[in-house]
Amino acid sequence: FAPWNDAQAKPFIAIENVTKKFGDFAAVNDLSLNIYNREFFALLGASGCGKSTLLRMLAGFEEPTSGRILIDGQDMRGIPPYKRPVNMMFQSYALFPHMTVEGNIAFGLKQEGMAKADIEARVAEMLKLVKLEQFAKRKPHQLSGGQRQRVALARCVAKRPKVLLLDEPLGALDKKLREETQFELMDLQMKLGLTFVVVTHDQEEAMTMADRIAVMDKGKVMQVATPAEVYEAPNSKFVADFIGNVNMFEGTAASVAGGKIDIAVAPESLTIRTDSASKSFTAGQPVGFAIRPEKIRVSRKPPADPSVNSAQGELYDIAYFGDMTVFHVKLESGRIIKAASLNAVRTVEDPLGYDDTVWVNFDTDAGIVLTA
Ligand code: ATP
Repeated sequence: FAPWNDAQAKPFIAIENVTKKFGDFAAVNDLSLNIYNREFFALLGASGCGKSTLLRMLAGFEEPTSGRILIDGQDMRGIPPYKRPVNMMFQSYALFPHMTVEGNIAFGLKQEGMAKADIEARVAEMLKLVKLEQFAKRKPHQLSGGQRQRVALARCVAKRPKVLLLDEPLGALDKKLREETQFELMDLQMKLGLTFVVVTHDQEEAMTMADRIAVMDKGKVMQVATPAEVYEAPNSKFVADFIGNVNMFEGTAASVAGGKIDIAVAPESLTIRTDSASKSFTAGQPVGFAIRPEKIRVSRKPPADPSVNSAQGELYDIAYFGDMTVFHVKLESGRIIKAASLNAVRTVEDPLGYDDTVWVNFDTDAGIVLTA
């Protein structure tokens, strides 16, 4: 399932050069994006980056200042929310407190004028889908947070929209429930064959659920890619830094040949050698180098060739996370290098301890060279 790689595939939602201004301020700034049928798509970014504004424009609660939005080939300008093939689930769920679970799910169907018997059948189907059959007669205040969330979902999908827009759908749930519910949402999306567009500021959530992620900053899309791509091949310092943990070095491209580059990092006279650069660089050009903690080894013994991709330092912090251990190694310059190793594959070397003198080192294909 990767319609975005198919040049023939038509996007189900096409966002074309959309800008949304509030006064002089562009909350969304000349943004273009394609979302495909049955895709689970995440808009990810820090508070204020414009992701909710974009979602609200898809729903029809806001109109773009310029640019256009096509859904299923149709220009959405001037089309009110209830006439769009989309439905939106709000973070607050907006359930009617005086109505039962059944009543909440049936509400939109009644408004559409659906026949009574059809409504009953649809409500039963929805209750089954979200596993709330026994809770049909309860009111929202008699439910747990997770159950309320499922009622809200059932109510949103009952009308069979083609696209479900979800604004921080799991924001009100505690960590454990959120993790479980992520899988339920993915399951539901698959079963219903819907397109989901979810807004979240939680990168783990986006990584877990989405087919593709748009990483947003200041009203712009910085990168659109699969979770693995944004993690392993971020296109900018911003994305590398925003997604997961990273060690970032600033330096100068010293010798350049094909994908092979040596980067001189000044304060420590470090030489970073990489053979996996995807772009070409010129000698003397300032570049960044990003490397994930799990790509860095920590050892008491120096590596075979300590002249490149290695440095000596002091073990400054050790944090045990159950599945992995994170080491902070302080170099003489004061720079902290973050390294992480899976506890299941931990080497049998004497356990490392605080203040130990250690070497960090990494392979020539372990990091990413970045320019912006
Ligand atoms: P959050 O996660 O905090 O909701 P967000 O990424 O969803 O953030 P938006 O809600 O889209 O961000 O807001 C983007 C920017 O636009 C913010 O700076 C916000 O203050 C501004 N903004 C949003 N709606 C309005 C409005 N109706 N009038 C004026 N400014 C607005």
